[in-house]
Amino acid sequence: MLIGKHIAPLLVVPKSGEQNDQFAIYKSTCCGAEIVLVKGALFPLCHKHKLPAGWKIVTLIEPSDQRQKDKAA
Ligand SMILES: [Zn+2]
Repeated sequence: MLIGKHIAPLLVVPKSGEQNDQFAIYKSTCCGAEIVLVKGALFPLCHKHKLPAGWKIVTLIEPSDQRQKDKAA
């Protein structure tokens, strides 16, 4: 019998090589090194270990320069 993977979405961490879909600060699961990653960028290797790591979100960064630009006068 197969063991079903029962992972809640919030516990799934992106890994090195995957594409980031939100501008945020991330922390590597191996040693806690923090990075800032823009949306669309690929998760890097851990800076300290030079190895693939999981990246846990620390803080979501809200883009503040996207203020209602299409408000035509
Ligand atoms: Zn590390």
